[in-house]
Amino acid sequence: MASRNRVDRRTIAIHCAGCRTLLYKYLKGGRGGLVKCFVERIVSDFTRGDLKCPECGQTFARERVISGRPVHKIIQGKVYTRGMSRK
Ligand SMILES: [Zn+2]
Repeated sequence: MASRNRVDRRTIAIHCAGCRTLLYKYLKGGRGGLVKCFVERIVSDFTRGDLKCPECGQTFARERVISGRPVHKIIQGKVYTRGMSRK
């Protein structure tokens, strides 16, 4: 029997590592770690759109453009994610 194929996309929650505030809900593809967020895949944005945590003010990402698409490059250690596949 064929195993159920997992959809290679999931919604994850991205939280501030400092104060645990929910920052984004994000539709992530692939199984690797979170390095960057494509803006078009951010499902819900709980920030003020300034790439800072609305609670503690910590900057958690930098804006970049990759192949003409805006991305938020995550600063490692500033966020943690929930909903990623487990090891
Ligand atoms: Zn915070």
